[in-house]
Amino acid sequence: MKIDTACIHGYKRREPTGGISVPIYLASTYRHGSDESPDATNYVYSRIQNPTRETAEKVVAALEGGVEGYAFSTGMAAIATVMELFEPGDHIIATQDLYGGAIRLFRTVLEKRGLEFTFIDTGDIDAIKAALRPNTKGIYLETPTNPMMDITDISAVKAAITGRDILIVIDNTFLTPYFMNPLALGADIVIHSGTKYLGGHSDTTAGFAVVGSQDLVEKLRGLHVSIGACLSPFDSFLILRGIKTLALRMEKAQENALALARWLEGHPKISKVYYPGLPGHKGHEIMNKQCRGYGAMISFETDCVETAHNILQRTQLIAYAESLGCVNSLITIPALCTHEDLPEEERLARGITDRLLRFSVGIENVQDLIEDLRQAMG
Ligand SMILES: *Cc1c(COP(=O)(O)O)cnc(C)c1O
Repeated sequence: MKIDTACIHGYKRREPTGGISVPIYLASTYRHGSDESPDATNYVYSRIQNPTRETAEKVVAALEGGVEGYAFSTGMAAIATVMELFEPGDHIIATQDLYGGAIRLFRTVLEKRGLEFTFIDTGDIDAIKAALRPNTKGIYLETPTNPMMDITDISAVKAAITGRDILIVIDNTFLTPYFMNPLALGADIVIHSGTKYLGGHSDTTAGFAVVGSQDLVEKLRGLHVSIGACLSPFDSFLILRGIKTLALRMEKAQENALALARWLEGHPKISKVYYPGLPGHKGHEIMNKQCRGYGAMISFETDCVETAHNILQRTQLIAYAESLGCVNSLITIPALCTHEDLPEEERLARGITDRLLRFSVGIENVQDLIEDLRQAMG
């Protein structure tokens, strides 16, 4: 089954009514069977499993080619729960240019609990090898990164740690399973903020973790139920509904993003464009090798702070807002929003200046988006 078909038929729950879509099962508890066999159905209590959530989990697991998936109330809940697989004293190598919330969790919550982190450019395989310690138990990465669009070669990371008991965890929010399947490239766990492209309409928050082996199934299921940050039935329904059009949305957003990246590159008030779909992008070849597309996230630098300010304040269609991956185009300034917690020196060293904007390209007509930027820049 091809991925666009899997968005619709990836998992079929047998609905007693014959319904084509899965209902929102609100029951929090389920009647037991007999004394001897208390589980009359697969369901006992909604935190443990719920038919609507289960369907969302199975669809996302199918799209990622995983053994099992777990749905969480947010992407951060998925990340926090997955990180419980590690023990105090474990060392984790992480991409330096991670989603700001992940960095905050690692530094302010998990370091206090005894996990050690080394943040590096995971695109540099020699840097990964150099950062390995005897207690290294995990490599946590994003590719492309947020907001600098750095690329990591996942199978090269896998090759660099052969023979070691190290989990590779990849946050695949930016590309979605439609464009990349990290488990097939050597990752052990894939994470998604379902709030973004999977939901796709900025009307729900959700998170997913998909595991590639039976061993991790048992461990993560236990953590999911114990910690309890599960996705509600209603939000599970919205995710299922969103995924049905994932293929169409990703294709259209990507087509728009490429056209916009080219247009921005040619604009005199734009000094730099970071989009992995551009042949000049330094990760373009690796993207061609490990992905089926480049996604629809663009970062770009303006000539001066005033231009950046004008774009944020004057665009009519493109909203100045955090988040990404919805049908609407959104634009933000990482230095002041998503990455404001980073020490200034570190932020600037990474290129996150006050002229850098991050653009989540939506599925509007691309000419309207170009026109909106043109009038905003003046
Ligand atoms: C938004 C986001 C998260 C966090 O997800 P929430 O649903 O906001 O908790 C994690 N990783 C990436 C790449 C994101 O964009």
